[in-house]
Amino acid sequence: MAGLRRAEAAATAAQAGRPRPERPRLAHAASHRALVAAARALHDRGFNPRRAGNASLRAGRGFLITPTGMDYDAMGPADIVAMSLDGTARGRRAPSSEWRFHADILRARPEFGAVLHAHPPHATALACLGKPIPAFHYMVAAAGGADIRCAPYATFGSRALSRNALKALADRRACLLANHGMIACGADLDDALGLAEEVEALARQYLLALAAGRPRLLPAREMAKVLRLFEDYGARR
Ligand SMILES: [Zn+2]
Repeated sequence: MAGLRRAEAAATAAQAGRPRPERPRLAHAASHRALVAAARALHDRGFNPRRAGNASLRAGRGFLITPTGMDYDAMGPADIVAMSLDGTARGRRAPSSEWRFHADILRARPEFGAVLHAHPPHATALACLGKPIPAFHYMVAAAGGADIRCAPYATFGSRALSRNALKALADRRACLLANHGMIACGADLDDALGLAEEVEALARQYLLALAAGRPRLLPAREMAKVLRLFEDYGARR
C-alpha cells in the first residue's frame, strides 16, 4: 500500500514537472490534418492523379510529409510521417519518395513553412517542353521574380533533382521540374496551395497564348515595378 502510494506520488510529481501532454498532441494532430487536407486539395483540383505529388509542412526542428504510395482517399492524419531535416523518418509509413527536396528546400529556405509538389496538366506540359514561364503576364511575379524557371531533368527522389530544384527556386517560390511537374512553396499550406493554383493557371494561359501566336513579354523594368507593388501589397495584408 505504502509502495503504491509512493508510486502515485512519484507519478504526480513527475507530471507536475512536465508540460501537459494533451496540448502538444492536439496541436500535432491539427498539423497532420492540415497536411492531409492540402494533399487532398491538390488531388481534387486534378493536380495529382492517383498517387502522384506530395506535401510537407514545417514542424518544430523538422517537418511532416505525406507518405509514399498511398491513395489520397485512404490517407489519414495517422499516415503522415515526421522527419528531421537530415532525413530521419518517424511514423508507421515510409515518407514520400520526394522527401529529399522537401528537406533540402525547408533547410535552405527558412522563410518557407510548406512545400507542395504536384503534376498539374498544364504546368507539367510546359515542363515536358523544358520551357520556363516568361513574363508573358504580370502575375508571373507572384512566384517572386520575372519568370518561373524550369529545373533540368533528374530522376525522381535523387540528390540531383533536389539540387536542380533548389537552383531553379533561387529568389523564387515556385519552379517547374523538366519532364516531371512543379514545386510551389509558401509561408504556410494555404499560401503554397494558392501559388500552386496560380502557377497552373499561368501555365494554361501561356500554352493557349503560344497556340495562338507569339506572346508579347513584359519588359524587365515593368516586372520589377510589379514585384515592388506585390511586396507592398504583401506587407499590408
Ligand atoms: Zn512527382
